[in-house]
This record gives sequence, C-alpha cells and structure tokens, in this order.
Amino acid sequence: MYGYTAAIKDISVKELGYDAAVIGGGAAGMAAALEFEAEGFTCAIIEREDHLGGILMQCIHNGFGLHEFSEELTGPEFAERFIERVIKSKIAVYLNTTVTRFTPLKELYCVSPSGAIKIKCRVAVLAMGCRERNRGNVRIPGSRPAGIFTAGLAQRLVNIEGYIPGKEAVIIGSGDIGLIMARRMSWAGCKVKAVVEIMPYPAGLTRNIVQCLNDFNIPLYLSSQTTGIFGNDRVEGIEVTPMENGVLAQEKSFRIDCDTVLLSVGLIPENELSKTAGIELNNVTNGPVVDSTLMTNMDGVFACGNVLHVHDLVDWVCEESRRTGRHAVQWLRGDRPLLQIRARAGSNVRYVNPTRIAPDRENHIYLRSMIVKNDAVMEIRLDNRVIRSKKERHVQPSEMINFKLSPKDFEGIEANSDSVLEFVIK
Ligand SMILES: Cc1cc2nc3c(=O)[nH]c(=O)nc-3n(C[C@H](O)[C@H](O)[C@H](O)COP(=O)(O)OP(=O)(O)OC[C@H]3O[C@@H](n4cnc5c(N)ncnc54)[C@H](O)[C@@H]3O)c2cc1C
Repeated sequence: MYGYTAAIKDISVKELGYDAAVIGGGAAGMAAALEFEAEGFTCAIIEREDHLGGILMQCIHNGFGLHEFSEELTGPEFAERFIERVIKSKIAVYLNTTVTRFTPLKELYCVSPSGAIKIKCRVAVLAMGCRERNRGNVRIPGSRPAGIFTAGLAQRLVNIEGYIPGKEAVIIGSGDIGLIMARRMSWAGCKVKAVVEIMPYPAGLTRNIVQCLNDFNIPLYLSSQTTGIFGNDRVEGIEVTPMENGVLAQEKSFRIDCDTVLLSVGLIPENELSKTAGIELNNVTNGPVVDSTLMTNMDGVFACGNVLHVHDLVDWVCEESRRTGRHAVQWLRGDRPLLQIRARAGSNVRYVNPTRIAPDRENHIYLRSMIVKNDAVMEIRLDNRVIRSKKERHVQPSEMINFKLSPKDFEGIEANSDSVLEFVIK
C-alpha cells in the first residue's frame, strides 16, 4: 500500500498558466478564444478530440453560416474558417487532451498524450457542447436488440466512418439531427419508413421538415408515442400509439417493421465538469445559470454555445461566444455592470437566457417559446409594467427567439436590485 501511494506522488504534473483557458474547441470555444487573442491576452483551447471544430466536422450537409458569412456552407467548411484563424494566432491548442476536473480555483486537470497537465487561468470559458439523450432518458419499453442508435452517432458512422447502420429505419423524435439523418440515410440507400414525434408539432426547424422529410416523402407521425421496440438479436419493428387529448389511444396502435431505430430525442448540455466544480445549473436548460455578462455563479468562469443552452444555429453559437469572450476580457480589466436585475420566463416562455440583465449595457437575450402561434406578441415587463412589446410573425418551441435590450429600453424607468424583468408570449 505504501509503495503504491509513493509511486503516485512521484508522477510529475506539468503546470502551465494562461490568462484564459477555453474548455472545448468547437465553434463556441474557437469564437471565444479569438476574442482574448485580439485583445492581447494569452489563451489556451483544450480539446479532447484530435481536431478542432467539434460537432460541425460530422455535419457534411449545407445550411451553415447564412448569418455569420452570408453564405451557405457545410459544417466542416464553416469550422475551417475559424480553425484557420486559430492556427494563425498565438492561441495554444491542446488536442487529444481531456479536462477531467475543473476546480473553483480555476485549475484545469487534464489528461494529454504527454501525460497529466494542470492549467491555471485567470478566466475560464466553458464551451464543452452537448450530448444526445438516449433510450434510457426517454424510457421506451420493449426488448433490447442491436440496431438502436442515437441520430448523432449514426451521423458519425455514415459521414466519418463510412458505415451505413441499417436498411430500413424509423426515426424516433423530430429534432434537427433526426431530420437531417432521415435525408442522409435515404441518400445512402436506406429506406426511412417514418419519423415518430410525441408532441403535436415538430421539434426541428421548419426548413428541415421541408427539405429532409417532405422532399423524400417520409411520413411524420405527430402526437404519437413509440410504445414498443421488438426484436431479439436485431430490431424487427416498433409499435406506435397515437395520443388523443394527451391519452394513449391503445386501440389505434400500429406496427412499423424496420431493422434500425434512430433516436433524436433531444440534447443535454455537457455539464459534468460544471457540476463537480459546483457551478449552479438552470433546471430548464440544464446549462449553467449566467448573468448579463454570461458569467456563471463562479467569479471569472463564463459559458457559451451548446453547453449553456442548446442552439439551433451555429451562427448564434458564434455570436454568443464572441460576446462571452468580450465580456471575459472586460472582466479581466475590472469592468463590471453597475446593476443586474433578475430576468424570468413568464407565461408561454420556456426559458430566457441570461437570467440577469444589466440596464446600463446592451443585453442580448435568447428565449424559447412553449407554444406554436402565428402573429404572437412578446411582452417585456419590468415589475409588472410593460416596457416593450414586440410582434413575432410566428413562434414555435424549436426556433429560438433572439433580440437586444439596450439602455434606451430602460430610459425613465426606475429599476433596482429587487426588480424583476418578465418575458411573456401572448
Ligand atoms: C446533427 C447536427 C446538425 C446541425 N445542423 C445545423 C445546421 O444545418 N445549421 C446550423 O447553423 N447549425 C446546425 N447545427 C448546430 C451547430 O452545429 C452547433 O450548435 C454548434 O456547432 C455547437 O458548437 P459548440 O462549440 O457549442 O459545441 P461542439 O461543437 O459540440 O463543441 C464542443 C467541444 O468540446 C469538446 N469537449 C467536451 N468536453 C470536453 C472536455 N472535458 N475536455 C476537452 N474537450 C471537451 C468536444 O470534444 C467538442 O469538440 C447542427 C448540429 C448537429 C449536431
């Protein structure tokens, strides 16, 4: 026992220091890191994969970058534009390096090909992306045969490993990854028999419903629950039961034969490191709670991209992450907002991010609706008084709403640290 402990003590850990350390080298991490570099602060990106770019590298379809570059790019093309800038910069990039522990003292314990590393920093940016929910998360009954994949895993198999997971597939859940995979699997020669969605409306973007399902005549069953998966060694089929007034209409259950099931049932921010560091998490988004500067409850620790809340478009990820980098630079320079007031989701709003607003600064707000509605109105109320209302031609849960609130919106209005800003959709 003594010898074993002594051996551990002998292992040397390389210690490094930077002004800023960014965990994750996807779009969010790279966009944030470039802001530190631009302002002359030293910065490191720590990425567990052998390349930068994150999830973008397996998204070979187009549709990326319409806002960021006014061009339609594939995921790898979009990533490449950031990767080139990072490579040309002085940013230190640690690839194949996983952060296994992050402490409130802003120390990152990492495992790298050259051994253990400890990185100390003055500010840290969490940019670890998100992970897919799986069968266990949604509790689908039935047997446990081979042939059940998450949609993102199937995407990696088809686009990167060159392997088609099956011949006849059903996709459970209508999130964007599932819709994109319906089209990708069809192109690869697989018959996609249906997409089954428990909610009365699709979970993915309208453009993906049109381009990935309608154009391929793939039926979408809304208000329908998957009530069974059959098969011994390999999937043989699933049972679908329509929901009527929120109740399963069991007499209307039907079976779809297939050898493959892809799950597209939501994404969850990758929050294990945040949890163990003691960072407060938002129980709706599952990402960290952040203030108007996108700083978590831990001083000098910021979050952006999918680890903060799941975004539909990488363009918004980059916008948010650049802003996070700029806020972190201001923090390094000792610049803090004068006052921050609490922001909360009111009726028909699922969540609002950030949950603190600084009336003396420009605030960029992201929120998601809980309802599907045409000609909706969003009201912003400060202590129950409407300070702004905004027309929305169409709202739906899958499409994030984003807008700015500036000091002008608060002109002539008394706000104090007990004030509450509420966002409501009517
Ligand atoms: C299938 C799919 C289709 C999409 N289609 C579109 C589209 O058509 N248009 C569009 O605009 N957007 C699309 N998106 C969304 C967009 O690609 C993402 O929102 C965006 O790329 C997320 O960036 P991120 O940096 O937050 O996360 P990620 O890209 O996931 O990056 C996070 C990085 O952190 C690393 N990491 C995590 N934990 C650790 C750790 N402990 N140590 C070290 N590194 C770590 C990961 O390896 C990863 O590289 C799509 C997304 C998916 C999944």
